[in-house]
Amino acid sequence: MIKIGIIGGTGFGNPGLLENAARQKVHTPYGAPSGLVTTGRLDGIEVATLPRHGDNHSIYPSAVNFRANIWAMKHVGVTHIFAVTAVGSLREEIKPGHLIFPDQFIDRTTRRIATFYEGQEVCHIPMADPFCGKLRTMLSKTAGALGLDSHGCGTVITIEGPRFSTRAESKMFRLWGADVINMSTVPEVVLAREAGICYAAIAMSTDYDCWHESEEPVSWELIQKTMQKNSENVKLLLRAAMKQVDFTDCICRGAAASSIL
Ligand SMILES: [Zn+2]
Repeated sequence: MIKIGIIGGTGFGNPGLLENAARQKVHTPYGAPSGLVTTGRLDGIEVATLPRHGDNHSIYPSAVNFRANIWAMKHVGVTHIFAVTAVGSLREEIKPGHLIFPDQFIDRTTRRIATFYEGQEVCHIPMADPFCGKLRTMLSKTAGALGLDSHGCGTVITIEGPRFSTRAESKMFRLWGADVINMSTVPEVVLAREAGICYAAIAMSTDYDCWHESEEPVSWELIQKTMQKNSENVKLLLRAAMKQVDFTDCICRGAAASSIL
């Protein structure tokens, strides 16, 4: 039995979209998740959604309780997570409005707890391939079939925020091999792996990061327009992708169990 978790909630937190939608408060050992978990069925598939930044988008990235969010998803039975995230582009070819499905991350966060194993047990979980390869490949194929502009792999760098990068940092991240930048993928993806949940990120490029010296200054209005278009594309993609999730066993599921000392 599979259950799809959508973090980011872009358009899917709306109970009107899900059949038999129910909103529930989940209590976790790590405190409260970012909001209520909405569960229901979409096209016959069990779905749970959670808004990463709260219902009113009031939780800033460093204050997101990532452990509570992943724990809540696991608690309601989620087996596969699609994590929607807005990113800035560090590459000319990743244009605003494009989707990217990262296969690697670089962690530049400084204030986040990135493990469930803080007590008696120590868990050195392998992280060479942090995202679920099966989900990522399927997303990339599905986006291609839908005719969406997308990139099937890439490196996301997650910074602590809430400030954006300096131009020097942005240029350095490009030299490091990062392709897009955000403030939310780490530690979410790490905790999902510890929880045995397959996790793929759907990154939506909203604009170029500040390394890019474009002719026109980027306006908030333009970014909002791009975000609106991105969100429509992601809804299309999610609905198509959900039906193709492979429910056979995946290496993501047992990774933690074999890593505990
Ligand atoms: Zn997997």
